[in-house]
Amino acid sequence: MAEYIVYGDLNCPFSYALHELLCSNNLLHKVDWRLVEHNSEIGSYLGSAESMAELASDVFNIRNRTPDVAISLPLNRSDSYFPCLCVIATQKIDPGKAETFRHNLYRALWVEGKDISNPSVIFNCLEASELPTELDADETCEQILEAWQQQWEQGNFTLRTPAMLAPDGRKLVGLMNHESIINFLQGDSVATPELNSGTRYHERQTIALYGGDSVAELWGVLSTLRDESNILLPQSLQALKDQLLSDEQCPDLVLLHNDGQQHDLTEQCRELGHFTREQQIPLAVIGQPLDDSAEVALYDVGVADYLLQNRDPAIIQSRINILLQLKRSHDLLARAASIDNLTQVFNRREFERTLEIEWRRGQRSKQPLSLILLDIDHFKAFNDYLGHLNGDNCLRQVALAIKESARRAQDIVSRYGGEEFCILLPDTDQSGAQVLANNICNKISQLDIRHSPEFRDQPVTASLGITTMTPNNKGVSPHKLIEQADKALYQAKEQGRNRVICFTAE
Ligand code: GH3
Ligand code: MG
Ligand code: MG
Repeated sequence: MAEYIVYGDLNCPFSYALHELLCSNNLLHKVDWRLVEHNSEIGSYLGSAESMAELASDVFNIRNRTPDVAISLPLNRSDSYFPCLCVIATQKIDPGKAETFRHNLYRALWVEGKDISNPSVIFNCLEASELPTELDADETCEQILEAWQQQWEQGNFTLRTPAMLAPDGRKLVGLMNHESIINFLQGDSVATPELNSGTRYHERQTIALYGGDSVAELWGVLSTLRDESNILLPQSLQALKDQLLSDEQCPDLVLLHNDGQQHDLTEQCRELGHFTREQQIPLAVIGQPLDDSAEVALYDVGVADYLLQNRDPAIIQSRINILLQLKRSHDLLARAASIDNLTQVFNRREFERTLEIEWRRGQRSKQPLSLILLDIDHFKAFNDYLGHLNGDNCLRQVALAIKESARRAQDIVSRYGGEEFCILLPDTDQSGAQVLANNICNKISQLDIRHSPEFRDQPVTASLGITTMTPNNKGVSPHKLIEQADKALYQAKEQGRNRVICFTAE
């Protein structure tokens, strides 16, 4: 008997992902996988718009957290009671094959999108596992399932699946990344992740599909898109607007289902346009044929396309792909416009934009925001003697050194102008910024770039000014941060250059 116990649900995608991770690392034999029902009232809940939205968001999160696990969004979670009983029944026949059977059921639901409560799907999974297809899922199977269910409900797992229990009592609740799971199986304690935490998975584009209960009608149409894109199913217009304003869940395309019930579709689209326009997120509507003037009215308020839901899904998908491609091109262009050509760090314009955003974010989070302003020392002399081409080269090397030091994803390195760079550090206090600034300062002199004869014994160096503010005062402009960092930089120059100075109010 394995020492570790896992409580997992067949219709929980996080349990599926853990099962896959253990399987691909040959670790399934280390655990005793006990099936439970995460939500036993699932019958009445299945198929509701709320359940579909939750499911879409779960799959989205799994793709973030465990990108190696193949998962596609099924139309529904299946009722897992009967397939659980079948797994228990097969364990009495052959535990090894029962494990394969469980694996096949997980994949049938989470990769192929099949309904695993359907007897013919169970039959196929049994056959593929070389098990008899006539099973006796009797009362003893029900009792085992009931016992596992009680252990899980009373085991302090905050009613979450998957839950892993070590022989020494350590617990792992929720889906962790690969490394944490291995560590847990090797004896380490691992903190429980926050529900739905995770960073956005950037390679897939995201489609927000809004249309209340009628969204299920579109499932056939979206079959391939579901694999290629992330799908979000906002439950209300407000939820959709919130997603459009969020960094993590902002969609690349909004697809509105016209189910013929909306009072004023045009008005709804006009309103959404306020949210999608700035980021050039295409807004498309899908539904039954409209009369020409109504369709034109939609284009007038900024709708990019009106798709007919009864047409061949291949046509609808192609048109959606064109819209997604447009968004991708726009994103690439926007990115190109935000980069400084010479040094390949962000340009001044992008810095100003992110400064505003981070300032507002800091007002909400009450976290400190730091800014480092950096200026290369005696760079005019360098250029005058070594020429502008060498000067440009030096700028590139300095930019690279800065980028290599400021490695957190949130840190924004930009060229502020000429030979000046700035590094914006969200959620960073003064001591953190000081450590980074000192690293950068040392790293630049260690590049050992030869200076003009005027400074013959010194390599190229830089002076750095730092300031930190917690942007809680609504009346203060973010430019205050630049002003203060500039004052500190001036002092660094005054005091002899090649150093870091923090701003202090006299
Ligand atoms: P300090 O130590 O006081 O900063 O002296 P400095 O010479 O660096 O300062 P100053 O502002 O007098 O000169 C900045 C020089 O940077 C002027 C220009 O020759 C050079 N510079 C600005 N932009 C570029 C650029 O894009 N390429 C090159 N090669 N040089 C540039
Ligand atoms: Mg300068
Ligand atoms: Mg300078």
